[in-house]
Amino acid sequence: MSHPHFLVIPYPILGHMNPLLQFSQVLVNHGCKITFLITEFNQTRMKNAIEHLGTQIKFVALPDGLDPEDDRSDQPKVILSLRNTLPPKLHNLLQDINASDGDDSKITCLVISKNMGWALEFGHKLGIKGALMWPASATSLASFQSIPTLIHDRIIDPETGLPTRKQEIQLLPNSPMMDTANLPWCSLGKNFFLHMLEDTESLKFGEWWLCNTTCELEPGALGKWPRFLPIGPLMQSDTTKSSFWREDTTCLDWLDQHPPQSVVYVSFGSLAIVEANQFKELALGLDLLNKPFLWVVRPSNDSNKDNNAYPDGFIGSKGKIIGWAPQKKILNHPAIACFITHCGWNSIIEGLCGGVPFLCWPFFSDQFINKSYICDVWKVGMGLDKDENGLISKGEIRKKVEQVLGNEDIKARSLKLMELTLNNSAEGGQSSKNLQKFIDWAKD
Ligand code: UDP
Repeated sequence: MSHPHFLVIPYPILGHMNPLLQFSQVLVNHGCKITFLITEFNQTRMKNAIEHLGTQIKFVALPDGLDPEDDRSDQPKVILSLRNTLPPKLHNLLQDINASDGDDSKITCLVISKNMGWALEFGHKLGIKGALMWPASATSLASFQSIPTLIHDRIIDPETGLPTRKQEIQLLPNSPMMDTANLPWCSLGKNFFLHMLEDTESLKFGEWWLCNTTCELEPGALGKWPRFLPIGPLMQSDTTKSSFWREDTTCLDWLDQHPPQSVVYVSFGSLAIVEANQFKELALGLDLLNKPFLWVVRPSNDSNKDNNAYPDGFIGSKGKIIGWAPQKKILNHPAIACFITHCGWNSIIEGLCGGVPFLCWPFFSDQFINKSYICDVWKVGMGLDKDENGLISKGEIRKKVEQVLGNEDIKARSLKLMELTLNNSAEGGQSSKNLQKFIDWAKD
């Protein structure tokens, strides 16, 4: 067979859809055919990506089984609904696609993201190959795979996934020590943990676990299971990204007017919620900087709750505040001096590719381990610490921005790591070879 045809099935949030969309784009560039599954709920929200990519990628929408007003940030609810709703529809979809003329039309391989493990099992029963494209770090996937051992060693409770006692562990060789309370599922509740157990179990039906990472970034995790295949960093233009919010590109002109390494970029991805009093403190902290700042204040995901009230006394004259950013372009702009981030994996990879030092502000899930890599392993950033009231104070923000920008070692390591990371995707690089290996496997 000359061209494999992939059916790509992401979990319907941006942090999963974007890396799978980028990966799809890479596969298209290698001559592969892609059908990309989205939910009907996300169809209008993804208009931009569909317009840009519709000629190369076939988008197909199916219902997610929820009512329009249902809360789609409730992950266990969405996972369950997708698992109950999609299989028969997927069955019909596959039949329709495979009934089309031409050998190239038949689906040869499913590529799924986290939370959609059931689809691998489903494909396996139909004799269709499957692979996981993990939208986070290899270490976080390794931590999920380690759950049986953690239960066996009585480090976590089998019912809740919570630590049995306070302790630090090293999950993998060459990985940072971590507080067991920061295991990725601990902040997401018991229901999520139980879903993850099931999901993780299904992953054995995937021949490959593809990760947007590199051998240099996470050697310990990648060496642990032979299915891990690092194919990062995924390189793509901003136009290939799905975006639920309108990108404000005026910030690029604004950045052009600033000298190199002068602007502090602040963004917390698509899910993290900054509580109202923390939002005020952050605003005042940015005002205190003697640097300009570019701050993404995302519209609230919940129309009933808006935390984004600016405090009395906030001036903001040195900054630009936007609703949603063309993040990758920003992180590659010479004016950016550092990145205050929630430590989502996609943001980290994008920041590493821009050679930008980080200030880490993790909120939940794998973001704490990601912070440890940045601060303790790669040493390309610093953490922002909470005060006795559980807040990151304005003073802390000013102090750490000054420290990170004054640290030449961090800057030099950031640039070095950028080079190492980018080399992986260049011709002859390890990730580029791995990608070819994966495509050859799918063709067989
Ligand atoms: N992003 C963006 N504009 C923004 C903020 C974020 O395009 O203003 C993109 C960012 O480039 C990344 C994704 O949204 O690709 C966020 O993914 P990440 O894994 O960092 O965090 P999550 O949103 O899953 O918490």
